[in-house]
Amino acid sequence: MTATHAREPLSEPLMSWHHGRDYKVVHAGPSGSMVFLAGNHRVFMTTTELGHRLEQGLDRMTATEAQEWVALDRSGLLKDTHRSRLASSRYEDGANLALNINLTGACNLACTYCFAQGGDYGRIYKKMDIQTVDYIFEFIRKHVTRSRKVRFEFFGGEPLLNFPIIQEICERSDRIKNEEGISFINRISTNLTVLPDDAVSLFHARNFIVSVSIDGGPATHNQNRPTKSGKDSFAGIMANCMKVREPGDGVTMVARMTVVSSIPSLVENVLELHRLNIFDYFQIYPGVTSPGGTCGGKPELVQLKPANASSPPAKHEATMNMEFLSQLAELIKIYPSMFGNGNRFRGVLEYERIVEMLLEGKMALGFCGGGGTYFTFSPDDSIMPCHRLVGETQFQVGTGATGLTGDTSDWTLPVDTHPICSQCWDRYVCGGNCRQENYIATGSLRGINEDTCRYQQDLLEQVVGSLATADSQ
Ligand code: SF4
Ligand code: SF4
Repeated sequence: MTATHAREPLSEPLMSWHHGRDYKVVHAGPSGSMVFLAGNHRVFMTTTELGHRLEQGLDRMTATEAQEWVALDRSGLLKDTHRSRLASSRYEDGANLALNINLTGACNLACTYCFAQGGDYGRIYKKMDIQTVDYIFEFIRKHVTRSRKVRFEFFGGEPLLNFPIIQEICERSDRIKNEEGISFINRISTNLTVLPDDAVSLFHARNFIVSVSIDGGPATHNQNRPTKSGKDSFAGIMANCMKVREPGDGVTMVARMTVVSSIPSLVENVLELHRLNIFDYFQIYPGVTSPGGTCGGKPELVQLKPANASSPPAKHEATMNMEFLSQLAELIKIYPSMFGNGNRFRGVLEYERIVEMLLEGKMALGFCGGGGTYFTFSPDDSIMPCHRLVGETQFQVGTGATGLTGDTSDWTLPVDTHPICSQCWDRYVCGGNCRQENYIATGSLRGINEDTCRYQQDLLEQVVGSLATADSQ
Protein backbone atom coordinates (compact mmCIF):
# COMPACT_ATOMS: atom_id res chain seq x y z
CA MET A 1 0.00 0.00 0.00
CA THR A 2 1.36 3.39 -0.95
CA ALA A 3 0.85 6.31 1.37
CA THR A 4 -0.08 9.61 -0.24
CA HIS A 5 -0.69 13.01 1.23
CA ALA A 6 -2.40 14.52 -1.81
CA ARG A 7 -5.97 15.49 -0.91
CA GLU A 8 -8.74 13.75 -2.80
CA PRO A 9 -11.81 15.94 -2.94
CA LEU A 10 -14.98 14.71 -1.29
CA SER A 11 -17.68 13.81 -3.77
CA GLU A 12 -20.42 16.37 -4.46
CA PRO A 13 -23.00 14.71 -2.21
CA LEU A 14 -20.51 14.45 0.65
CA MET A 15 -19.60 18.13 0.31
CA SER A 16 -23.16 19.03 1.13
CA TRP A 17 -23.36 16.87 4.24
CA HIS A 18 -24.37 18.73 7.40
CA HIS A 19 -23.74 17.73 10.96
CA GLY A 20 -27.11 17.31 12.70
CA ARG A 21 -28.85 16.29 9.50
CA ASP A 22 -26.73 13.75 7.61
CA TYR A 23 -24.59 12.59 10.52
CA LYS A 24 -24.33 13.14 14.23
CA VAL A 25 -21.24 13.05 16.42
CA VAL A 26 -21.82 11.55 19.84
CA HIS A 27 -19.02 12.01 22.38
CA ALA A 28 -18.59 8.91 24.48
CA GLY A 29 -16.13 10.09 27.13
CA PRO A 30 -12.67 8.50 27.32
CA SER A 31 -13.67 5.90 24.70
CA GLY A 32 -13.69 8.54 21.95
CA SER A 33 -16.51 9.77 19.72
CA MET A 34 -19.06 7.94 17.62
CA VAL A 35 -20.23 9.13 14.20
CA PHE A 36 -23.79 8.08 13.43
CA LEU A 37 -24.93 8.20 9.80
CA ALA A 38 -28.57 9.19 9.42
CA GLY A 39 -28.98 7.65 5.97
CA ASN A 40 -28.04 4.06 6.81
CA HIS A 41 -27.66 3.88 10.62
CA ARG A 42 -24.00 2.90 10.46
CA VAL A 43 -21.85 4.01 13.39
CA PHE A 44 -18.11 4.72 13.20
CA MET A 45 -15.75 5.28 16.08
CA THR A 46 -13.21 8.05 16.02
CA THR A 47 -11.09 10.16 18.35
CA THR A 48 -12.67 12.83 20.48
CA GLU A 49 -10.52 15.44 18.76
CA LEU A 50 -11.70 14.47 15.27
CA GLY A 51 -15.24 14.15 16.60
CA HIS A 52 -15.15 17.81 17.64
CA ARG A 53 -13.90 18.84 14.21
CA LEU A 54 -16.56 16.78 12.44
CA GLU A 55 -19.19 18.66 14.42
CA GLN A 56 -17.98 21.77 12.57
CA GLY A 57 -18.26 20.09 9.16
CA LEU A 58 -16.55 17.55 6.93
CA ASP A 59 -14.31 20.28 5.54
CA ARG A 60 -12.47 20.33 8.89
CA MET A 61 -10.81 17.01 8.11
CA THR A 62 -7.14 16.79 7.19
CA ALA A 63 -6.19 15.53 3.74
CA THR A 64 -5.48 12.05 5.09
CA GLU A 65 -8.76 11.90 6.97
CA ALA A 66 -10.63 13.08 3.90
CA GLN A 67 -9.05 10.25 1.92
CA GLU A 68 -10.39 7.79 4.45
CA TRP A 69 -13.89 9.24 4.01
CA VAL A 70 -13.55 8.96 0.26
CA ALA A 71 -12.54 5.30 0.71
CA LEU A 72 -15.56 4.69 2.94
CA ASP A 73 -17.75 6.36 0.34
CA ARG A 74 -16.35 4.26 -2.51
CA SER A 75 -16.97 1.08 -0.56
CA GLY A 76 -20.63 2.06 -0.21
CA LEU A 77 -20.54 2.47 3.56
CA LEU A 78 -21.79 6.07 3.47
CA LYS A 79 -24.63 5.41 1.06
CA ASP A 80 -28.01 6.90 1.95
CA THR A 81 -30.24 3.85 1.68
CA HIS A 82 -33.10 4.88 3.94
CA ARG A 83 -34.44 7.78 1.89
CA SER A 84 -35.17 5.66 -1.19
CA ARG A 85 -36.41 2.76 0.90
CA LEU A 86 -38.89 5.03 2.66
CA ALA A 87 -40.05 6.52 -0.65
CA SER A 88 -40.73 3.11 -2.15
CA SER A 89 -42.28 1.47 0.93
CA ARG A 90 -45.87 1.17 1.97
CA TYR A 91 -46.85 1.62 5.60
CA GLU A 92 -47.87 -2.00 5.98
CA ASP A 93 -44.61 -3.41 4.60
CA GLY A 94 -43.24 -5.81 7.18
CA ALA A 95 -45.92 -4.82 9.70
CA ASN A 96 -48.63 -6.82 11.37
CA LEU A 97 -52.11 -5.41 11.73
CA ALA A 98 -52.37 -4.23 15.35
CA LEU A 99 -55.68 -3.59 17.08
CA ASN A 100 -56.01 -1.90 20.41
CA ILE A 101 -59.11 -3.27 22.09
CA ASN A 102 -60.43 -0.70 24.55
CA LEU A 103 -62.51 -3.09 26.64
CA THR A 104 -63.99 -0.73 29.18
CA GLY A 105 -63.88 2.84 30.43
CA ALA A 106 -63.79 1.60 34.01
CA CYS A 107 -60.57 1.72 35.98
CA ASN A 108 -59.93 1.30 39.68
CA LEU A 109 -56.79 3.45 39.89
CA ALA A 110 -56.39 7.23 39.91
CA CYS A 111 -53.01 7.67 38.22
CA THR A 112 -51.64 11.18 38.40
CA TYR A 113 -50.68 11.34 34.72
CA CYS A 114 -53.58 9.44 33.15
CA PHE A 115 -54.19 10.52 29.53
CA ALA A 116 -57.54 8.71 29.53
CA GLN A 117 -59.26 10.94 32.09
CA GLY A 118 -59.48 8.12 34.60
CA GLY A 119 -60.04 5.44 31.94
CA ASP A 120 -63.19 6.61 30.16
CA TYR A 121 -61.67 9.41 28.01
CA GLY A 122 -64.62 11.50 29.10
CA ARG A 123 -67.01 9.51 26.90
CA ILE A 124 -66.61 5.72 27.11
CA TYR A 125 -69.06 4.74 29.82
CA LYS A 126 -69.86 1.12 28.99
CA LYS A 127 -68.08 -2.15 28.49
CA MET A 128 -67.36 -3.61 25.08
CA ASP A 129 -69.98 -6.16 23.98
CA ILE A 130 -70.25 -9.01 21.47
CA GLN A 131 -71.46 -6.76 18.63
CA THR A 132 -68.13 -4.90 18.70
CA VAL A 133 -66.26 -8.21 18.68
CA ASP A 134 -68.12 -9.09 15.46
CA TYR A 135 -66.98 -5.79 13.95
CA ILE A 136 -63.40 -6.39 15.05
CA PHE A 137 -63.20 -9.71 13.22
CA GLU A 138 -64.83 -8.24 10.09
CA PHE A 139 -62.14 -5.54 10.18
CA ILE A 140 -59.39 -8.14 10.58
CA ARG A 141 -60.57 -10.11 7.53
CA LYS A 142 -60.52 -6.93 5.46
CA HIS A 143 -57.30 -5.30 6.68
CA VAL A 144 -54.94 -8.10 7.70
CA THR A 145 -51.49 -7.37 6.24
CA ARG A 146 -49.43 -9.73 4.12
CA SER A 147 -47.81 -11.14 7.25
CA ARG A 148 -51.23 -12.70 8.10
CA LYS A 149 -50.51 -11.83 11.73
CA VAL A 150 -52.63 -9.68 14.01
CA ARG A 151 -51.49 -8.23 17.30
CA PHE A 152 -54.15 -7.54 19.89
CA GLU A 153 -53.47 -4.94 22.55
CA PHE A 154 -56.07 -5.49 25.27
CA PHE A 155 -56.50 -2.11 26.87
CA GLY A 156 -58.91 0.12 28.78
CA GLY A 157 -59.68 1.46 31.41
CA GLU A 158 -58.58 -1.70 33.12
CA PRO A 159 -59.12 -4.49 30.55
CA LEU A 160 -59.39 -7.27 33.12
CA LEU A 161 -62.61 -5.65 34.34
CA ASN A 162 -64.13 -7.02 31.12
CA PHE A 163 -62.41 -10.41 31.08
CA PRO A 164 -65.28 -12.37 29.41
CA ILE A 165 -64.77 -10.37 26.18
CA ILE A 166 -61.02 -11.13 26.24
CA GLN A 167 -61.92 -14.84 26.50
CA GLU A 168 -64.41 -14.49 23.65
CA ILE A 169 -61.85 -12.77 21.40
CA CYS A 170 -59.27 -15.47 22.14
CA GLU A 171 -61.74 -18.24 21.31
CA ARG A 172 -62.71 -16.59 18.02
CA SER A 173 -59.02 -16.09 17.22
CA ASP A 174 -58.52 -19.85 17.50
CA ARG A 175 -61.31 -20.43 15.00
CA ILE A 176 -59.99 -17.81 12.54
CA LYS A 177 -56.53 -19.28 12.82
CA ASN A 178 -57.79 -22.73 11.89
CA GLU A 179 -60.14 -21.53 9.16
CA GLU A 180 -58.18 -18.68 7.59
CA GLY A 181 -54.57 -19.10 8.67
CA ILE A 182 -54.40 -15.75 10.46
CA SER A 183 -52.29 -15.97 13.61
CA PHE A 184 -52.54 -13.76 16.67
CA ILE A 185 -50.19 -12.18 19.16
CA ASN A 186 -51.86 -11.22 22.43
CA ARG A 187 -50.66 -8.41 24.61
CA ILE A 188 -52.48 -6.91 27.56
CA SER A 189 -51.76 -3.59 29.26
CA THR A 190 -53.05 -4.04 32.76
CA ASN A 191 -52.65 -2.51 36.19
CA LEU A 192 -53.05 -6.06 37.57
CA THR A 193 -54.96 -4.85 40.60
CA VAL A 194 -57.47 -7.52 39.66
CA LEU A 195 -56.88 -11.04 38.40
CA PRO A 196 -60.05 -12.91 37.39
CA ASP A 197 -60.28 -16.69 37.69
CA ASP A 198 -58.87 -18.32 34.56
CA ALA A 199 -56.81 -15.26 33.55
CA VAL A 200 -53.47 -16.86 34.45
CA SER A 201 -54.26 -20.05 32.53
CA LEU A 202 -55.48 -18.02 29.51
CA PHE A 203 -52.30 -15.92 29.53
CA HIS A 204 -50.05 -18.98 29.63
CA ALA A 205 -52.03 -21.05 27.12
CA ARG A 206 -51.76 -18.23 24.55
CA ASN A 207 -48.29 -16.92 25.43
CA PHE A 208 -49.57 -13.48 26.36
CA ILE A 209 -47.30 -10.52 26.70
CA VAL A 210 -48.48 -9.16 30.04
CA SER A 211 -47.49 -5.51 30.30
CA VAL A 212 -47.99 -4.40 33.88
CA SER A 213 -48.18 -0.70 34.66
CA ILE A 214 -45.82 -0.45 37.59
CA ASP A 215 -43.74 2.67 38.15
CA GLY A 216 -41.06 1.28 40.48
CA GLY A 217 -40.85 0.37 44.14
CA PRO A 218 -43.72 1.08 46.55
CA ALA A 219 -42.70 4.68 47.32
CA THR A 220 -42.87 5.78 43.69
CA HIS A 221 -45.66 3.51 42.55
CA ASN A 222 -48.06 4.31 45.39
CA GLN A 223 -47.48 8.03 44.87
CA ASN A 224 -48.14 7.85 41.12
CA ARG A 225 -50.82 5.20 40.98
CA PRO A 226 -53.10 5.18 44.05
CA THR A 227 -56.50 3.52 44.02
CA LYS A 228 -59.56 5.66 43.30
CA SER A 229 -60.14 5.77 47.05
CA GLY A 230 -56.58 7.00 47.66
CA LYS A 231 -55.10 3.75 48.95
CA ASP A 232 -51.75 2.13 48.07
CA SER A 233 -51.85 -0.29 45.14
CA PHE A 234 -48.30 -1.70 45.01
CA ALA A 235 -48.60 -4.74 47.30
CA GLY A 236 -51.75 -6.13 45.66
CA ILE A 237 -50.29 -5.73 42.17
CA MET A 238 -47.07 -7.49 43.14
CA ALA A 239 -49.02 -10.39 44.63
CA ASN A 240 -50.86 -10.75 41.31
CA CYS A 241 -47.60 -10.44 39.34
CA MET A 242 -46.24 -13.41 41.30
CA LYS A 243 -49.38 -15.42 40.49
CA VAL A 244 -48.99 -14.67 36.78
CA ARG A 245 -45.30 -15.60 36.80
CA GLU A 246 -45.66 -18.66 39.04
CA PRO A 247 -46.68 -21.28 36.40
CA GLY A 248 -43.48 -20.64 34.42
CA ASP A 249 -42.27 -19.14 31.17
CA GLY A 250 -45.51 -19.22 29.15
CA VAL A 251 -45.90 -15.47 29.45
CA THR A 252 -43.60 -12.58 28.71
CA MET A 253 -43.91 -10.00 31.47
CA VAL A 254 -43.12 -6.34 30.89
CA ALA A 255 -42.76 -3.73 33.63
CA ARG A 256 -44.32 -0.65 32.01
CA MET A 257 -42.87 2.27 33.96
CA THR A 258 -43.95 5.87 33.67
CA VAL A 259 -41.51 8.37 35.13
CA VAL A 260 -42.72 11.65 36.59
CA SER A 261 -40.38 12.13 39.52
CA SER A 262 -36.71 11.61 40.34
CA ILE A 263 -36.90 10.76 44.04
CA PRO A 264 -36.38 7.83 44.36
CA SER A 265 -34.34 7.79 41.16
CA LEU A 266 -35.21 5.83 38.05
CA VAL A 267 -32.18 3.59 38.62
CA GLU A 268 -33.36 2.76 42.15
CA ASN A 269 -36.88 2.03 40.91
CA VAL A 270 -35.69 -0.14 38.03
CA LEU A 271 -33.34 -2.12 40.27
CA GLU A 272 -36.05 -2.62 42.86
CA LEU A 273 -38.27 -4.28 40.25
CA HIS A 274 -35.31 -6.07 38.63
CA ARG A 275 -34.45 -7.76 41.93
CA LEU A 276 -37.87 -9.44 41.98
CA ASN A 277 -36.81 -11.37 38.84
CA ILE A 278 -40.29 -11.64 37.36
CA PHE A 279 -40.12 -9.18 34.46
CA ASP A 280 -38.55 -10.11 31.12
CA TYR A 281 -38.53 -6.56 29.82
CA PHE A 282 -38.90 -3.02 31.04
CA GLN A 283 -40.59 -0.28 29.08
CA ILE A 284 -39.81 3.18 30.39
CA TYR A 285 -41.51 6.33 29.32
CA PRO A 286 -41.74 9.92 30.57
CA GLY A 287 -45.11 10.81 32.04
CA VAL A 288 -46.74 14.04 31.00
CA THR A 289 -47.52 16.26 33.96
CA SER A 290 -47.96 19.89 34.81
CA PRO A 291 -44.63 21.75 34.68
CA GLY A 292 -42.46 22.19 37.77
CA GLY A 293 -43.09 20.52 41.08
CA THR A 294 -42.61 17.04 39.68
CA CYS A 295 -38.99 16.50 40.64
CA GLY A 296 -39.23 14.84 43.99
CA GLY A 297 -42.63 16.31 44.63
CA LYS A 298 -46.04 14.81 44.15
CA PRO A 299 -47.03 15.08 40.50
CA GLU A 300 -50.25 16.90 39.79
CA LEU A 301 -53.04 15.60 37.64
CA VAL A 302 -53.05 17.48 34.37
CA GLN A 303 -55.63 18.32 31.80
CA LEU A 304 -54.23 16.99 28.54
CA LYS A 305 -56.90 18.23 26.21
CA PRO A 306 -56.12 21.19 23.98
CA ALA A 307 -59.17 23.30 23.14
CA ASN A 308 -58.58 23.06 19.40
CA ALA A 309 -55.80 23.27 16.86
CA SER A 310 -56.13 27.03 16.43
CA SER A 311 -55.74 27.71 20.14
CA PRO A 312 -53.24 25.14 21.34
CA PRO A 313 -52.31 24.96 25.01
CA ALA A 314 -49.61 27.32 26.24
CA LYS A 315 -46.23 25.76 25.74
CA HIS A 316 -45.29 23.49 28.61
CA GLU A 317 -48.82 23.53 29.97
CA ALA A 318 -48.45 19.78 30.00
CA THR A 319 -45.04 18.29 29.38
CA MET A 320 -42.59 15.62 30.37
CA ASN A 321 -40.25 16.03 33.30
CA MET A 322 -36.96 16.95 31.62
CA GLU A 323 -35.02 15.41 34.52
CA PHE A 324 -36.12 12.17 32.91
CA LEU A 325 -33.29 12.55 30.39
CA SER A 326 -30.52 12.66 32.99
CA GLN A 327 -32.16 9.78 34.83
CA LEU A 328 -32.15 7.75 31.63
CA ALA A 329 -28.46 8.61 31.14
CA GLU A 330 -27.75 7.15 34.60
CA LEU A 331 -29.70 4.03 33.76
CA ILE A 332 -27.78 3.31 30.59
CA LYS A 333 -24.53 3.34 32.59
CA ILE A 334 -25.67 0.36 34.67
CA TYR A 335 -27.62 -1.28 31.85
CA PRO A 336 -25.03 -3.96 30.92
CA SER A 337 -24.82 -5.09 34.55
CA MET A 338 -28.55 -5.92 34.57
CA PHE A 339 -28.09 -8.93 32.28
CA GLY A 340 -27.14 -12.38 33.52
CA ASN A 341 -26.59 -13.54 37.12
CA GLY A 342 -29.66 -15.76 36.88
CA ASN A 343 -32.01 -12.82 36.29
CA ARG A 344 -34.59 -13.32 33.51
CA PHE A 345 -34.20 -9.68 32.39
CA ARG A 346 -33.90 -9.38 28.59
CA GLY A 347 -33.78 -5.65 28.09
CA VAL A 348 -35.36 -2.21 28.14
CA LEU A 349 -37.60 -2.17 25.08
CA GLU A 350 -36.76 1.41 24.05
CA TYR A 351 -33.03 0.64 24.03
CA GLU A 352 -33.38 -2.76 22.40
CA ARG A 353 -35.48 -1.38 19.55
CA ILE A 354 -32.77 1.14 18.69
CA VAL A 355 -29.92 -1.36 19.08
CA GLU A 356 -31.72 -3.69 16.65
CA MET A 357 -32.13 -0.85 14.14
CA LEU A 358 -28.42 0.00 14.35
CA LEU A 359 -27.15 -3.57 14.21
CA GLU A 360 -29.46 -4.64 11.39
CA GLY A 361 -29.62 -1.33 9.48
CA LYS A 362 -33.38 -1.19 9.97
CA MET A 363 -35.41 2.00 9.71
CA ALA A 364 -38.81 3.16 10.95
CA LEU A 365 -41.47 3.81 8.30
CA GLY A 366 -43.24 5.97 10.89
CA PHE A 367 -43.25 6.58 14.62
CA CYS A 368 -46.04 4.10 15.18
CA GLY A 369 -48.55 2.32 13.03
CA GLY A 370 -51.35 4.70 14.15
CA GLY A 371 -53.79 5.26 11.29
CA GLY A 372 -51.84 2.88 9.04
CA THR A 373 -51.69 -0.58 10.56
CA TYR A 374 -52.80 0.25 14.09
CA PHE A 375 -56.32 1.15 15.19
CA THR A 376 -58.31 1.32 18.39
CA PHE A 377 -61.77 -0.20 18.80
CA SER A 378 -63.88 1.02 21.74
CA PRO A 379 -67.18 0.00 23.32
CA ASP A 380 -68.99 2.80 21.40
CA ASP A 381 -67.87 1.13 18.12
CA SER A 382 -65.66 4.05 17.12
CA ILE A 383 -62.44 3.32 15.27
CA MET A 384 -59.62 5.67 16.22
CA PRO A 385 -56.06 5.91 14.87
CA CYS A 386 -54.57 6.22 18.37
CA HIS A 387 -55.56 4.75 21.73
CA ARG A 388 -54.63 7.93 23.59
CA LEU A 389 -56.92 10.07 21.47
CA VAL A 390 -60.10 8.07 22.02
CA GLY A 391 -61.60 11.11 23.75
CA GLU A 392 -61.00 13.35 20.72
CA THR A 393 -63.79 12.42 18.34
CA GLN A 394 -62.50 14.72 15.59
CA PHE A 395 -59.82 12.09 14.98
CA GLN A 396 -62.31 9.25 14.50
CA VAL A 397 -61.66 7.39 11.25
CA GLY A 398 -64.59 4.99 11.15
CA THR A 399 -67.09 2.86 13.01
CA GLY A 400 -67.49 -0.85 13.47
CA ALA A 401 -70.48 -0.87 11.12
CA THR A 402 -68.97 1.26 8.33
CA GLY A 403 -65.32 0.29 8.67
CA LEU A 404 -62.62 2.82 7.82
CA THR A 405 -64.04 5.98 6.26
CA GLY A 406 -61.80 8.80 7.48
CA ASP A 407 -58.68 10.45 6.11
CA THR A 408 -55.58 9.02 7.80
CA SER A 409 -52.95 10.84 5.76
CA ASP A 410 -51.77 13.07 8.63
CA TRP A 411 -50.96 9.88 10.49
CA THR A 412 -48.98 8.15 7.80
CA LEU A 413 -47.11 10.91 5.95
CA PRO A 414 -43.46 9.85 5.77
CA VAL A 415 -40.90 11.67 7.84
CA ASP A 416 -39.09 12.97 4.74
CA THR A 417 -42.15 15.10 3.87
CA HIS A 418 -42.06 16.98 7.19
CA PRO A 419 -40.24 20.33 7.03
CA ILE A 420 -38.48 19.89 10.40
CA CYS A 421 -38.16 16.12 10.72
CA SER A 422 -36.72 15.78 7.20
CA GLN A 423 -33.72 17.85 8.38
CA CYS A 424 -33.15 15.79 11.54
CA TRP A 425 -30.38 13.23 11.98
CA ASP A 426 -32.71 11.00 14.05
CA ARG A 427 -35.48 10.87 11.44
CA TYR A 428 -35.28 7.23 10.33
CA VAL A 429 -35.14 5.98 13.93
CA CYS A 430 -37.73 8.35 15.42
CA GLY A 431 -40.15 8.40 12.51
CA GLY A 432 -41.58 11.81 13.42
CA ASN A 433 -42.59 11.48 17.07
CA CYS A 434 -45.84 10.44 18.72
CA ARG A 435 -48.72 12.26 17.04
CA GLN A 436 -50.67 12.49 20.30
CA GLU A 437 -47.74 14.15 22.04
CA ASN A 438 -47.35 16.57 19.15
CA TYR A 439 -51.04 17.34 19.37
CA ILE A 440 -50.93 17.93 23.12
CA ALA A 441 -48.00 20.34 22.78
CA THR A 442 -49.00 22.20 19.63
CA GLY A 443 -52.64 21.48 18.83
CA SER A 444 -51.56 19.76 15.62
CA LEU A 445 -50.63 16.15 14.88
CA ARG A 446 -47.85 17.43 12.63
CA GLY A 447 -46.53 20.07 15.03
CA ILE A 448 -43.38 19.17 16.92
CA ASN A 449 -43.46 18.56 20.64
CA GLU A 450 -40.00 19.90 21.36
CA ASP A 451 -39.65 18.10 24.69
CA THR A 452 -40.47 14.64 23.42
CA CYS A 453 -38.46 15.36 20.26
CA ARG A 454 -35.47 16.06 22.50
CA TYR A 455 -36.20 12.84 24.34
CA GLN A 456 -36.11 10.89 21.06
CA GLN A 457 -32.77 12.42 20.14
CA ASP A 458 -31.33 11.95 23.63
CA LEU A 459 -32.37 8.31 23.65
CA LEU A 460 -30.62 7.63 20.35
CA GLU A 461 -27.51 9.55 21.47
CA GLN A 462 -27.35 7.46 24.63
CA VAL A 463 -27.61 4.19 22.74
CA VAL A 464 -25.01 5.26 20.15
CA GLY A 465 -22.71 6.42 22.96
CA SER A 466 -23.13 3.14 24.81
CA LEU A 467 -21.86 1.25 21.76
CA ALA A 468 -18.44 2.84 22.33
CA THR A 469 -17.99 0.85 25.50
CA ALA A 470 -20.08 -2.19 24.57
CA ASP A 471 -17.09 -4.36 23.61
CA SER A 472 -15.36 -3.87 26.89
CA GLN A 473 -18.39 -4.89 29.01
S1 SF4 B 1 -39.77 14.49 16.00
FE1 SF4 B 1 -37.82 15.41 16.48
S2 SF4 B 1 -36.41 13.68 16.75
FE2 SF4 B 1 -38.19 12.92 15.68
S3 SF4 B 1 -37.64 13.08 13.50
FE3 SF4 B 1 -38.79 14.92 14.04
S4 SF4 B 1 -37.22 16.43 14.57
FE4 SF4 B 1 -36.26 14.38 14.64
S1 SF4 C 1 -49.75 8.53 18.18
FE1 SF4 C 1 -48.51 8.12 20.00
S2 SF4 C 1 -49.92 7.35 21.56
FE2 SF4 C 1 -50.95 7.27 19.57
S3 SF4 C 1 -50.61 5.21 18.83
FE3 SF4 C 1 -48.98 6.47 17.98
S4 SF4 C 1 -47.30 6.34 19.47
FE4 SF4 C 1 -49.15 5.58 20.46
